[in-house]
Amino acid sequence: MKVLVIGGGAREHALCRSLSLDPDVTALHCAPGNAGIAEVAELHPVDQLDGEAVARLAVSLHSDLVVVGPEAPLVAGVADAVRAAGIPCFGPSGEAARLEGSKAFAKDVMAGANVPTARSYVCTTPAEIDEALDAFGAPYVVKDDGLAAGKGVVVTEDVEAARAHALACDRVVIEEFLDGPEVSLFAITDGVTVLPLQPAQDFKRALDGDEGPNTGGMGAYSPLPWADPKLVDEVMASVLQPTVDELRRRGTPFSGLLYAGLAITSRGVRVIEFNARFGDPETQVVLARLKTPLAGVLLHSANGTLDAQPPLAWRDEAAVTVVVASHNYPGTPRTGDPISGLDEVAALDAPHAYVLHAGTRREGDAVVSAGGRVLSVTATGADLAAARERAYAAVGRIRLDGGQHRTDIALRAAGAEA
Ligand code: AMP
Repeated sequence: MKVLVIGGGAREHALCRSLSLDPDVTALHCAPGNAGIAEVAELHPVDQLDGEAVARLAVSLHSDLVVVGPEAPLVAGVADAVRAAGIPCFGPSGEAARLEGSKAFAKDVMAGANVPTARSYVCTTPAEIDEALDAFGAPYVVKDDGLAAGKGVVVTEDVEAARAHALACDRVVIEEFLDGPEVSLFAITDGVTVLPLQPAQDFKRALDGDEGPNTGGMGAYSPLPWADPKLVDEVMASVLQPTVDELRRRGTPFSGLLYAGLAITSRGVRVIEFNARFGDPETQVVLARLKTPLAGVLLHSANGTLDAQPPLAWRDEAAVTVVVASHNYPGTPRTGDPISGLDEVAALDAPHAYVLHAGTRREGDAVVSAGGRVLSVTATGADLAAARERAYAAVGRIRLDGGQHRTDIALRAAGAEA
């Protein structure tokens, strides 16, 4: 199978790594990729938001499958363009990707499917905003209706900060605050059949102890020793299958990766958000644990034949990812800093720990930082404590000027292991 992956972050490196280990994959390409992906796939400098260009590339490569990683190309209709060129594509149509692209659309779908979520109002005027803020009280949750790369959400005790953020958006969703731990659960679907993956937890705040600003994600782990073993079945029945059924009923069937961001509240599971693609950094830990070869599963989703997919097999291991970010992330990150120690990790820690690249590029013989999140250092182990130890040992070998990482990824969860 010849596979083309679209994107260039650590999520796409994780996808490419799994695909490169799949014996059915005979050729692996990525556009645009990064310095790490270049080690497992051939890179192509194509604009990932240009559906026609991506489709032309897939045709020229005789691709059997295109896998779209990030949300922006999906919302821009890249999967539609690839399918129109007659090539199977893993990823939803632009219409169905509105489940992520518009918070208001997602709320409407959830209402139609009777999926449990925070009560909310969609507001466009200052009067509506004030009314909604008053109705729920503190802490206030204010979400820009459009795509904002995880930065459009403000959760605050300060009503003036909440109001200021709401007024800065064209259309805003204001909702009730959900208390309780968060879980990310991914499911692969072809629009009818839904195949859940294993749950993971990510760390959104920049600093230890969940302090500091929100980020794209600073680390993740899986499995969740503290979670109810029935969680996946429950979310399948109350969230994933009803949402997929509702989108099909509306004439916008969703195929690809359905990501449910959940809060485990005292009153039960509630959906915080949906995403229309693999989450980063949770993908790094979930794929580290998946034993079933990946390409066939993604192709079944793309072809609408997921009912023929045998049950997924999982390694009896835990996985931890620690993100190394640039100086000043998530503000305006500094880039162009040289990264060293990557060879040491490859020599000393593989195969149990490895480095997935996000914002990196090659400059001659050197690898330099090229974005906010630079590396996802991922490790597996018999339990979370062992995986953590390996991940942090590998992080310790890496040098990036001004680089920052959290030191408490999976710390509490490792303490909850039996
Ligand atoms: P979202 O982009 O919707 O995932 O929101 C980003 C983050 O904001 C989530 O991961 C939560 O930590 C937080 N958040 C979003 N909605 C709520 C809510 N209703 N109650 C509490 N926290 C929330």
